Amino acid sequence: MRDALFARIEAKTAELVELTRDLIRIPTVNPPGDAYADCAQFIGERLRRRGFDVAYPRGEGTPGDSDRYPRTNVVARRAGGRPGPCVHFNGHIDVVEVGDGWTTPPFGGEVKDGKVFGRGACDMKGGIAASIIAVEAICEEFPEFAGVLEISGTVDEESGGYGGVAHLARQGFFTRPRVDHVIIPEPLNVDRVCLGHRGVWWAEIETYGRIAHGSMPFLGDSAIRHMAAVLEKFEREFYPYLATKRTTMPVAPDGARQSTMNINSIHGGLAEGFEGWPSAVVADSCRMVIDRRYLIEESYEEVRGEIVNLLEALRRERPGFRYDLRELWTVPPTMTDRNAAVVRAVAAEIERVLSRPAEFVISPGTYDHKHIVRIAGLKECIAYGPGILDLAHQPDEYVAIEDLVASAKVMAASALALMGSGQA
Ligand SMILES: [Zn+2]
Repeated sequence: MRDALFARIEAKTAELVELTRDLIRIPTVNPPGDAYADCAQFIGERLRRRGFDVAYPRGEGTPGDSDRYPRTNVVARRAGGRPGPCVHFNGHIDVVEVGDGWTTPPFGGEVKDGKVFGRGACDMKGGIAASIIAVEAICEEFPEFAGVLEISGTVDEESGGYGGVAHLARQGFFTRPRVDHVIIPEPLNVDRVCLGHRGVWWAEIETYGRIAHGSMPFLGDSAIRHMAAVLEKFEREFYPYLATKRTTMPVAPDGARQSTMNINSIHGGLAEGFEGWPSAVVADSCRMVIDRRYLIEESYEEVRGEIVNLLEALRRERPGFRYDLRELWTVPPTMTDRNAAVVRAVAAEIERVLSRPAEFVISPGTYDHKHIVRIAGLKECIAYGPGILDLAHQPDEYVAIEDLVASAKVMAASALALMGSGQA
């Protein structure tokens, strides 16, 4: 039975390539959220013609939603001939801005050397196309399959997913018994199962000073110098300490297999963007945004507490040191059990299709997985899809046609196995 399914998918190679190209040609750039409704309808119409029930839930009132830029999602559902679990493929339809350095048209979907090029080719219109072909192949080959197939195309993953997966999760779209297993075809490489992601804690630190004439800085108190003391503590104490915090999570790449912190931005003193010459003042405020990525072994309280302790130590040691700490957002780390049914099914099919064992990885950054786990409480969720993660958001982004086909086979056979159709 698996042979028939795989033969059918191979016969659909040209169709899979054309579908990927068609999706790339809809320029769903976020921000601002261009052409979301066009892309959602394109997917929805295609699946409606193949017997799916299609809905277009709009993330009304979510960040960025307006009549000009509606946050239009699409959810398509088709029940088989017999009852059984529901397998849901979720892909984000938004892509990031184009940027410089392209040698192919970013929204052209050019095919060259066995690859499809374009913004979103790997992240993640190739994955969406592969999942659509996978479910269509099941419907054609086994129209009386047991279970339910769902596909969603959702918005705004690149900006937090609030109008997309988070919105759908709040509406119950990812809740049992409606959905049992979720596969997100993000570009994590065709032989890897992604079990989840590290946690995130974003915060803004502001130091305060006292304004004075720049020719007599001793009459004021520089907020920038106070921030320099924070930076010095980071360099001398905090970064070496973070490097000692290793994780058992299989994060790839290896450099992210520990706690990390990026200093996102620093702004101090005179506001930017003025015309003419700067005026001579001592900075009375300096703000720094930090982006701390944390591990399953750490708690939010611990991560926050480390920064509070560091700032409190400076307050004791350094005359005039005053600060505020504002938390911007936080996402706890998440890691699906290696023994979850969806993990075992996809890993087994990877081995079968590619003749090598699946690798298990954790993403250094977060993706829509978080909303499915936290809002919908569904633990049966992984990311698996074609495309190389390093190419995401880069110029000349591409997906290999060979990987599109292999991943479609893995997705189709895994879905059949999870729905308990017994044919695979
Ligand atoms: Zn993505």
